[in-house]
Amino acid sequence: LDILGIETSCDETAASVVRRHADGSGEILSDVVLSQLDLHAAFGGVVPELAARSHVTTLDRLVKQALEESKVSLKSIDAVAVTSGPGLIGGLMVGLMTAKAIAMAADKPFIGINHLEGHALTARLTHAVKFPYLLLLVSGGHTQIVLVKGVDDYERWGTTIDDALGEAFDKTAKLLGLGYPGGPAVEQAALQGEAKRFRLPVPMRRDPRLDFSFSGLKTAVRQMAEEQAPLSPQTIADLCLAFQTSVTSSIDDRISMALERFAQRFGTESEPALVVAGGVAANTAIRTTLETRAAKSGFRFIAPPLNLCTDNAAMIAWAGAERIAAGLEGDALDLAPRSRWPLDGSAKAAIGHGK
Ligand code: ATP
Ligand code: MG
Ligand code: FE
Repeated sequence: LDILGIETSCDETAASVVRRHADGSGEILSDVVLSQLDLHAAFGGVVPELAARSHVTTLDRLVKQALEESKVSLKSIDAVAVTSGPGLIGGLMVGLMTAKAIAMAADKPFIGINHLEGHALTARLTHAVKFPYLLLLVSGGHTQIVLVKGVDDYERWGTTIDDALGEAFDKTAKLLGLGYPGGPAVEQAALQGEAKRFRLPVPMRRDPRLDFSFSGLKTAVRQMAEEQAPLSPQTIADLCLAFQTSVTSSIDDRISMALERFAQRFGTESEPALVVAGGVAANTAIRTTLETRAAKSGFRFIAPPLNLCTDNAAMIAWAGAERIAAGLEGDALDLAPRSRWPLDGSAKAAIGHGK
């Protein structure tokens, strides 16, 4: 199965061709990503209108490049898969229009993909991972614990009740005068930090719901920063370390409970997997925390390579391939984009397929 994938839901324009072999393994034949980071950096966040315009001007070229690099002709592609939500509506429309046009012109099946399903299934593109497994998705827009039972079969166990984790890193960086995106800046600064100078609360500790909360933590950093003003580089580093330490403690607490729940339901004899995805997975402290916790609980820990953790089209193509291989149908060409689209139950159920 060779699938062309397109991703334009946020600030990456991406196209990719992915092959799914008969044994279920995956192969990335091409993976082109154009980040709009520079475009939005001056605004300290993604500007939807600018993002959509940039997708319009670059997507055609990227699709062409992805097809060329893959050495697969459009004729021998088996389907066109595109992110149809959740995300910024303008960007989604650009991707959908392009994918529909290609599918129609080349007479290929067309599949709208839930962006979160793309993140959720990526681990199976790079590793042999069996269902069920537990997914922690931590990005600029999402913070979720998801039980992945199968293709199109998900249970959302937890989500953030306020800020997404990447968003919390970005806001904390901003209030400390560090640049955008804030995640890498906070992690860098924390390396010079002195442990235990500042103590911040650990959000949601032992809360029986598996949810997250980060906005209180950000506010606590703000208050401490105000008390310490003017901020020396050392104080900034110490605050960054305190923030990151509270974040990793909270993640460890939430994930250890999730792994317990998973073990009660499915056992751990088959060494199930804990998978992480999303741009925040770049954070070494978070990765180490998850790796240690997984090992303690009898789980394998799987982190796809970083370029597949952040937004890309290979994961969208792969999700399309997985859906076809599972016998699921594609979509009609009147499929509409969805800015909100939680991954819970069947990825398609919520949009009333077969209406
Ligand atoms: P989504 O995928 O939910 O639509 P997004 O495109 O903003 O959102 P990603 O591109 O996956 O998300 O990730 C970007 C986020 O990851 C940013 O918030 C950034 O600050 C954060 N991030 C990147 N590197 C690190 C790091 N080393 N530590 C912490 N956070 C990081
Ligand atoms: Mg992004
Ligand atoms: Fe994403």
